[in-house]
Formats: sequence, C-alpha cells, structure tokens
Amino acid sequence: MENHTIMSNSESSSEGLEADFLIHPEWLVPMSEKGLILSDHSLAILDNKIVAIGDTNSLKQSISARREIMLQNHLLMPGLINSHGHSPMALLRGFADDIPLRPWLEEKIWPAEGRWVSEEFVRDGAALAIAEMLRSGTTAFTDMYFFPDEVAKVALKANIRALLAAPVLDFPTVWAQDADEYIRKTTDLNDRYKNNNLIQVAFGPHAPYTVSDEPLRHISTLANELDIPIHIHVHENSAEIEEAVAKAGMRPLQRLNELGLLSQLLQCVHATQLQQEEIDMLAAAGVSIVHCPASNAKLASGLCQTQAILDAGINLCLGTDGAASNNELNMINEMRMAALFGKGAADKAGATSAWDVLQMATVNGARALGKEDMLGTLETGKLADCIAIDLGQINTQPVYDPVSTLVYSAQGHQVSYVWVDGKLNLEKGELTMLDSSELIANASAWAKKIG
Ligand SMILES: [Zn+2]
Repeated sequence: MENHTIMSNSESSSEGLEADFLIHPEWLVPMSEKGLILSDHSLAILDNKIVAIGDTNSLKQSISARREIMLQNHLLMPGLINSHGHSPMALLRGFADDIPLRPWLEEKIWPAEGRWVSEEFVRDGAALAIAEMLRSGTTAFTDMYFFPDEVAKVALKANIRALLAAPVLDFPTVWAQDADEYIRKTTDLNDRYKNNNLIQVAFGPHAPYTVSDEPLRHISTLANELDIPIHIHVHENSAEIEEAVAKAGMRPLQRLNELGLLSQLLQCVHATQLQQEEIDMLAAAGVSIVHCPASNAKLASGLCQTQAILDAGINLCLGTDGAASNNELNMINEMRMAALFGKGAADKAGATSAWDVLQMATVNGARALGKEDMLGTLETGKLADCIAIDLGQINTQPVYDPVSTLVYSAQGHQVSYVWVDGKLNLEKGELTMLDSSELIANASAWAKKIG
C-alpha cells in the first residue's frame, strides 16, 4: 500500500465547506456520462451524501475535510450493484459442481437446503457473502432467499444496501407452507423495512415453473399497490421453455404477459432464451433484465443476447447469482464475463463494450432498484456509495484506458476502499465492520457439518 497516503485534519479550508472525506483519485469515473473519465478531480463526502465533485486544487482550498485520502493509481467510481443472488448459498460454494440446472437443483441443492437451511445458516451464509461482495466493490445487492429478515439484519450490521426478494413458491419449505404464506411474509417484511435507508423489499416468485397462475396474479396486484419490484428467474434454459410449452401451451414470458406481470416493476433474471418479439415485448413494457453470465455458463443454460437486449433499450443489469452456481460473488469478474460472452453471443468484438458492462453494474442496477435519482452515479447530492480500485499492480499495468483496465484486467481484491452511505466499509483492503477470521471459521464449521 505504498502508493497511497492518508492525511488527517486538513487545515486547507478557506470557504468553510465541511466534509468527512475528501478523496483524490488518479481517475474519477462518475458514470453520469458514458465515456467520461476525469483527471485532477476530487470528491467530498459529508454524512451519507456526496457534497462536491470538482477540480482538486479548488476543492482542496474550499473544503475543510476531517480526512483527506490520496489515491494514486486508483480509479474512483460508483459502488457496484449486484442485481441477483442468493447470499446464504455462499455456504454451498463448491458443494455441487459440473451438473446441469434441473438435477443440480432437484438432486443436490434443494435436498441440502431442506436439511440445513435455518435462521443460523442464513445469517452465517449472508455474512460470508456480504464480506466477499464488499471486498470486491459491491455496495448494493439483490437477494432471493428464505428468512430474508436474517439477511436484512446482517446487511444492516455490515452497512450494505440490499433489495430482499422474498421467495414465493407453490410448495412448502422451511420458511413458509404455501404461496399465501410466502406472500403474507413478504408484505409483512415490506411493512418492517419500507422506511429503511439501506433495505428494500421485493416479491421473489422463484420461477414460472415453481409458481402457479393465481399467486402470480396476486403478486402482480400487490406489487403495483405497494410499488415494489417483482424479481423472478425466467427463460433460464431451453428445457424450461420446452416444459412450459408442453404443459401450458405457451412460453413462460407469454404466460407472465397474460397474467399481467410485465411492467417497470418486473426484473427478469437470466433470460438466455429470448426471441426478437420477446425482446420487443420486454422493451415496450419497461422490464429490467438481470444477466448472470457465470451462472449461465456453469449450468450450461445458454448465452444471453446482451447486445440485442441493449440495442432494444432494455434496462440490462448484472448479477452473480448464488455462490453455488458461480462460484464467487465478484462483480469485477462478472463484468469481464458479461463483456466477453456478449461478444461471443453477438459474434462481434465490438458488442457489449467495457462501458456497457460498467453501466450494467452501476446506473442500470440503480434504475432496477427504483433509485436512479440517488444511486448509480457519482454526482453532488447523491448517496455516497463509491469504491476505489488500485490499478497500480502488475496485472493492471500499464494503463492506457482505466475503464478498459478495470473491466478486462483487474481482480476483485484490487478494490481497496469502499464507502456505503458515506461510511468507510473497506479501508486499504480490510473490512472495517466484519471480522474476516470469524467468517472463515464459521464457513469451515458449516462445511464439516454439511459435507
Ligand atoms: Zn438465481
């Protein structure tokens, strides 16, 4: 860490504007405009907001900061938004690999969850996942899992934003007995967190093949009333489509459309199997799509047509999915995979550019959360969720274009500073609010029990 120094109690104020942090990065990428990379610019944070972005010399003169942080070789940007995952499944990392989706779920994951999932499992798994996400620059994540109250408690303790997509299924699990109970628990959860600054709630109907028509209609009505998102796995692989056509005579997205679910509140996760008319239908409805390239590749689910989706103007976001099908929760690697697979899917090297995937992981994620006015870009007045990545290491030198270097060369562990809601969560690569050695000991103890 020889390439950055910290100065305390700067006395350089001349105009009296105060800040908790005044950050001087090598490059500032605010994401307010595609292609904009600022040099000799600094950013000031007071409480949980960005209070100034501007020329370094003038901010140094006009702002009195409690901490001034020099970040040579660092790129400062908005925090990454992981738009899909199942955080407690971090405890099932590496538990079932090299198996296709349905046998993976039905023969491995669901039986293990039936045996082991509890409030304690969810707390320990979520904490491990959150630590990994913060460590690699994620400042907000969307999570679909049982006992979402427990995930919320861990997220609040760790100071990270979460959209909790509480699951809905037709069949009983350890969390609820039937669709009505899942839905009631979701609305109760929303009541508890609707005024929380860090936690949001969504309906998380698992998939069209695990939730029947009546609960889906009910969810649609309630989501509109409460103005909260619906987060669903859909068109994940070709077998899902074939089964749906055999059973209901139509493709899953057509069924969701007929049930009235397509709207700006809907987040379709995966969508690897889309016909052009389905892309047009999703675009017209204002639906968001969440692309999970590593999970799709690992389960051989198919290639998402990211460039066609972007060309249609759909809000395309990026997610890691759970650690059982990835097997990491690292949005920097996920951006790289999205860029590379997007080129393969389109058969064009210019498809799904570094800037495209950076937008997917920031502004587009914020839009899906309904918070694009407060998150996703670095602008004065917005919430202070930002990260700094150290590009001064062997694998990221030399730097011709810092965004290209970030997407195509950087590793998650090169994130060295993370602020969420104005608080410093990661400092010089060390988590400030979670105890890494305790998390590792817990995970290891779970593996001994489960394995
Ligand atoms: Zn998933």
